[in-house]
Amino acid sequence: MSEQQLKVIKNTSRKLRVPEAQLAFGKEFTDHMFVMDYSTKMGWHHPRITPYESITLDPAAMIFHYGQTVFEGLKAYRTEDDRILLFRPEKNFQRMNRSSERLSMPPLDEKLVLDYLMELLRIDQDWIPVTEGYSLYIRPFIIATEPNLSLAPSNTYQFYIILSPVGSYYSEGIHPVKIFVEEEFTRAVRGGTGTAKTAGNYSAAYLAQKKASAKGYSQVLWLDGVEKKYIEEVGSMNVFFKVDGEIVTPALNGSILEGITRLSIIELLKDWKIPVIERRISIEEIFEAYKAGKLEEVFGTGTAAVVSPVGELTWNEQKITINNGQTGELSQMLYETLTGIQTGIQTDPFGWTVEVKK
Ligand SMILES: *Cc1c(COP(=O)(O)O)cnc(C)c1O
Repeated sequence: MSEQQLKVIKNTSRKLRVPEAQLAFGKEFTDHMFVMDYSTKMGWHHPRITPYESITLDPAAMIFHYGQTVFEGLKAYRTEDDRILLFRPEKNFQRMNRSSERLSMPPLDEKLVLDYLMELLRIDQDWIPVTEGYSLYIRPFIIATEPNLSLAPSNTYQFYIILSPVGSYYSEGIHPVKIFVEEEFTRAVRGGTGTAKTAGNYSAAYLAQKKASAKGYSQVLWLDGVEKKYIEEVGSMNVFFKVDGEIVTPALNGSILEGITRLSIIELLKDWKIPVIERRISIEEIFEAYKAGKLEEVFGTGTAAVVSPVGELTWNEQKITINNGQTGELSQMLYETLTGIQTGIQTDPFGWTVEVKK
């Protein structure tokens, strides 16, 4: 990587901002963005922070045709004493490089891009919401820009970081959702792109999501693509089950996305001396555990919602209600602890948070 000086072009005007109470997810963007170019000859170069603006691409740019692109998602939080915290951001850039490798795209210098992100956050810091539960969502992404319809990896790319102030996922406190177990469509298969955060995985999931929404469910639970037997993820979250006092979550098998929230939950549970096991889990086993009265809690995990309790699961016309449709004690405790650490309300014994110096 050619280490060039970061150029900053400040926006001369300020955007009109919607009141914090009206913030939805990913609809408002800050005054600036980060951009950097890549070419096979020069490597990554010309890092710059510019006013947030539309971009111009050739209609033959490879991103539009063969979907060579990867993204990440993380958040910046404002603490009560007005500091800015990131949660394990190095993990996001490490994962982005793993995604890029899968898509035949060039790696980034993880430390350097974290520095660029911090500079962007300093410039747009007044966009980080002050309301409790609100945060600034960070979306880094890379696109293939070479104008070329050949089926081969692009020789040029652009890396962007855009920032979006977001409201609380839960406006009225954390509450359980209804989940439909999907048996027709598949999210990912081993050897495919399921472990990468790449656009096609998400557009390919819309149809199942639409089907579930029409039936009154908020997300689908994905089964493995081969046998349609083993549990993979729920929506775009990892999933955990509390069965007879023990926590189980699907083992990373080559089609499940390796969530940073998932990893943190596993580390928290281990720290709390609560048994947690990563293994293959069949959907049948979960319904059997329910019938035996041993299914205590189910929850999804991800950056957006942090912990999302599941109140109802429907598989093959069988509907089960978990913990009377109420948020379980453990789900609640994990949610409070993780969001507490992320927002600086609780001490961070793991060294997970990184402060953005103003
Ligand atoms: C991003 C994502 C997750 C959650 O990952 P986090 O790092 O915890 O935000 C889980 N599953 C899918 C498919 C994802 O895209």
